[in-house]
Formats: sequence, structure tokens, C-alpha cells
Amino acid sequence: MQETNTEIKNIKTLSSTLKFKVFIIFCTIVHVMIAIFAFVNHIQPLLYFNIGSISVYLLSTLLLNRHLLLIFYIGFTEIIMHSFICILLIGNRFGFAMYFIALVPMSYHLLHAVQTKHYLLKASLLAVISFLLYSSCYLISTKYEPVYQSDTLTEIAPYIYIVNMLITFAALTFFSILFLIETVDAYNSLYSKNQELNTIANTDPLTGLYNRRTMAEHVRKLYEDTQVSQTQFSLIICDIDDFKLVNDTYGHECGDEVLKAISRQLSTLTRGHDFLCRWGGEEFLILLQNIDVEMARTIAERIRGKLADTDIFYQNETIRITMTFGVASSGEVESYDDLFKLADHRLYQGKNSGKNVVI
Ligand code: GH3
Ligand code: MG
Ligand code: MG
Repeated sequence: MQETNTEIKNIKTLSSTLKFKVFIIFCTIVHVMIAIFAFVNHIQPLLYFNIGSISVYLLSTLLLNRHLLLIFYIGFTEIIMHSFICILLIGNRFGFAMYFIALVPMSYHLLHAVQTKHYLLKASLLAVISFLLYSSCYLISTKYEPVYQSDTLTEIAPYIYIVNMLITFAALTFFSILFLIETVDAYNSLYSKNQELNTIANTDPLTGLYNRRTMAEHVRKLYEDTQVSQTQFSLIICDIDDFKLVNDTYGHECGDEVLKAISRQLSTLTRGHDFLCRWGGEEFLILLQNIDVEMARTIAERIRGKLADTDIFYQNETIRITMTFGVASSGEVESYDDLFKLADHRLYQGKNSGKNVVI
């Protein structure tokens, strides 16, 4: 999952203007080719029509800045008229009617790209029109002989058919790739937004530790699990001693820096799979899985000693703080709520007995 995501992360969506530039260039090249074909085979009306089409596409580059929707309708109408004229002039065997098929994904994609109102309805309507025109071309070709007929045209018809098929396939492939790119891009941006929101929802902005909500949820789940598995876990709730004094002496900003320093210390003093959170203002909670209360007290004692010996530097000041610890284990209580009450109660006892202790 993670791998797929990094693999597809580099794909970027094309801007709407770029899509229309590609569309104009593509149509112009196709019409230049058809104009050459008409010139070589002396099909004058087709030659003039294509010269007109090329001019229209080149002029429509002037609309690229503000009138993408207009470019779309001009392109759509031009493709329809051109295919129809080809059928009337040289018949259906050259495959010009296939362009009606390419109009379907083109309409959906480009109308969505320009963010026009009711784009789905409009594109569906155009898809129906494309189908009706495609069918009409077929019916016309079965009833009427084309205006231009010659042995040379008969000879080259299969090759022109294949070229038209190639152009149609190229257009279908182009819109399919665009569709895929945009789906992947939408997925990527949703995924990263989701990650961001998750981080915001689960962590404390100052320290980067888990927040109270996430911890409470995790402890509740673990408590339910241990009821079934008959194992136990412990909670260490710890509170900075006389933290108000730090704020009052060095300022609130310094207090914030101390909180960050303590968080970093606690992170290094706990194991990777221990769950650590900022439980409240200057209170932290450590969850130790598969650890009984005695073992948890030993761990808390080790943390207490290390913290008390740590210098915290803020500007020109060196600050020392101590913390008081209340430890409780899931094996000692009858309910989830009692677990927190017991840990809190022991912290309170620690504060009353002179602070900087583990109870
Ligand atoms: P005790 O030893 O009894 O815990 O005393 P204390 O001073 O630590 O506790 P008290 O509850 O009297 O004061 C806690 C102080 O923590 C007051 C509050 O302004 C400060 N505090 C809480 N959250 C933050 C914070 O995010 N940043 C800073 N700088 N201070 C905070
Ligand atoms: Mg305190
Ligand atoms: Mg407190």
C-alpha cells in the first residue's frame, strides 16, 4: 500500500490549458495530413475544408487564456462536420466516422476539465449525438454513392482506414491515460490530506506526542483485550513539579521549551512500543504493555532519576526540573475508569509526600 503510493506520487495532473493545447496541436496535425491527402487526390472541397479547419484551430489558440469551453464546442462541431463531409465526398470505407467514437471520452474529459455546469449531462448528450451521427454515416453510406470515386481511392482506402483507426486509438489512449493520471492524483492528494488530518487529530501540537484522546482510546482498547487475554499492562502518570514556578520565573515560552525537552527525554527513556502521550498541561502518561505494577515502578524510578539529573538549557539559563509519578496496573482494578483514578490518586499521594517520587 505504502509502496504503491510512493510509486504513483510523482504523477502530476495536466492543467486544463495544457490539455486544450495538446488537443489543438493534435487536431491541427491530423488536418494537415488530411489536407495533403485531399491535395494529392484532387478532392478540392475536402482540401478547402481542411485548410479552413487548420485556420480555425490556429485561431482558437487565441482563446486559450479564457475561453476553453468555446474551444471545445468549436472542436466538437468541426470534427462532426469534417467526418460528415468525408463520408459524403469519399464514402465510409476510409474510416472517418471513427472520429465520432473518440468524441465520447473527449467530451467527458474536456467538459469536466473546464468545470462547466452540468458537465456530466452535457457530455452524455454529446455522446448520444456522436452515436446518432456515427449510425447516420453508416446508413448514408449504404444508400448513397460518394461524390469522389476512383481506382486510386479504392486502392488507398484500407491504408487511410488504418491511419484513421490509429488516430482514433491514439485519442482514446490519450484520454484513458489522462483519466488514470487524474484518478491517481486525486487519490494521492486525498491520502496525504488524510495523513495530515490524522496527525493533527492524534498528536499534541507542542510536543508531537500522542494526545489525550488517542491515548484514552488506546488504553480502553488494550484494557478490553487484557480482560480476554488475562495479561496486564501498567500506566505511569507523571507531572512536572512546581512547573508554575518555571513559567513565573523564566516566562511561558521557556515553559513550552521545557515541555518539549521533557517530551524528548521521555521518548528516549521509553521503548518504541511503549505508548507515550501528553495527558494534560504538564502531565504525561506512559503505557507499558505486559508489565506489572512492580516492574512499572522500577521503570518509573529509572525515568525519574534520569530526568532529575538532566540539565535543560533555555537561552542563558540552565533549568532542572523534577517529576512525580503515579503508577497503576490493569491487574489491580475492576474497571477502565478505576485504572486512571488509581494512577491519579497515587500521583496525588506523591505530590503530598514531597514530590519527585514514584508511588
Ligand atoms: P505541582 O508540583 O503541584 O504539579 O505544581 P505545578 O506548579 O506544576 O502545578 P500547577 O497545577 O499549580 O500549575 C501547572 C502550570 O502548568 C500552570 C500552567 O500555566 C502551566 N502549563 C500548563 N500547560 C502549559 C503549556 O502548554 N505551556 C506552558 N508554558 N505552561 C503550561
Ligand atoms: Mg505540576
Ligand atoms: Mg498538573
